[in-house]
Amino acid sequence: MRASIIREILKVSSKPGIISFAGGLPAPETFPLKKFEQAMIEALRRDGTKALQYMVTEGFRPLKEYLCGWLRKQRIQGTPEQMLMTHGSQQGLELLGKIFINPGDSVLVEDPTYLGAIQSFNTFETKYVTVPMDARGMSPEAVEKALQRRPQVKFIYVVPTFHNPAGSTMTLERRQALIKIARRRRIPILEDDPYGLLRFKGKPLPSLYALAKGRGVVYMSTFSKLLSPGIRLGYILADQEIIDQLVLAKQPTDLQTNTLIQYAVYHYCKHGYLEKHLPLIIKDYAHRAQVMEEAIRRYFPRQVTFIEPEGGMFFWCTLPENINAGEVFKKALKKGVAFVDGSVFFANGGGKNTMRLNFTNCTDAAIRSGIQKLGGVLEDFIQGPGSR
Ligand code: PMP
Repeated sequence: MRASIIREILKVSSKPGIISFAGGLPAPETFPLKKFEQAMIEALRRDGTKALQYMVTEGFRPLKEYLCGWLRKQRIQGTPEQMLMTHGSQQGLELLGKIFINPGDSVLVEDPTYLGAIQSFNTFETKYVTVPMDARGMSPEAVEKALQRRPQVKFIYVVPTFHNPAGSTMTLERRQALIKIARRRRIPILEDDPYGLLRFKGKPLPSLYALAKGRGVVYMSTFSKLLSPGIRLGYILADQEIIDQLVLAKQPTDLQTNTLIQYAVYHYCKHGYLEKHLPLIIKDYAHRAQVMEEAIRRYFPRQVTFIEPEGGMFFWCTLPENINAGEVFKKALKKGVAFVDGSVFFANGGGKNTMRLNFTNCTDAAIRSGIQKLGGVLEDFIQGPGSR
């Protein structure tokens, strides 16, 4: 195991005076402090000692019932028996790795993909089949080609909506084609969807799980980006057979997910607060994304291309081939700006000329000033120092 590069970057970039586009932190201004306080009090007062007791590994049933109803509105059909509550989606990834992967097995992932997934799967000595992606997600033709060469993958891991790190969203046609390929080859799809509800542009798209009516797709989501990441609450929806295995995998890890948090989130949701809160986050992120996009257009050299996100939390930039984002990072940090060198998201290496920029954890002024400074550094790399 190696230290997460992002966590290391976070240590550096959280120093005072640094403008950081590095983390994947939601805007703390959007955390519903008052309503969540009320929900915690309700859990303690109304549920009493039950809220402080051990509970079943599967999770708090009333919360799972609420979530199934909430998901049904997104055409994601499932029963509470098909759901496992987890300590964030990150735990979901680890548990899925535990039940699916033996040392030396391969999994198919997008290139780039979510770093936390690589870290989780690495624990099981995984090999990767990587498939390049663009603004429209992973191309089904490329998936098919990759599987012809390496047919034995254990699953396909994909973040189809508002990708981390690439900000991209897989088109409907590509979603349908991917499901077809996976079905024909009987390969399960793991759909990781922490950002799906955070759409601020364009038309909503059905999840892979909804399109496949659940067949052959494991769906994962989390409260991290809708309520708070610190409460560490997520869930997995899958065939009951898979859930049964996951329950066994979870028991030695932590017995169960935090009881008090599950009770509190249940009260929070039951009052309709989650539904009411969501538009506020979307409005906030739409604004910050626009500020960052305008700043990028204004201050970055035109040789730098980027994917315009329709939701989620990230901009993904590609520099000319010969520019190394790791070197840019060192210079940028000296000027007081941090981002993530995109190469860390490539499971088999590569992507040296890419960068991930987060826009949800800075004020408008910091976004403008940080992008201006970063633009200056990029200009020096592309045109040579002193060109401006
Ligand atoms: N999957 C993806 C694609 C993510 O971006 C994140 C959070 N950065 C996670 C999973 C983990 O989320 P959680 O806080 O629910 O563990």
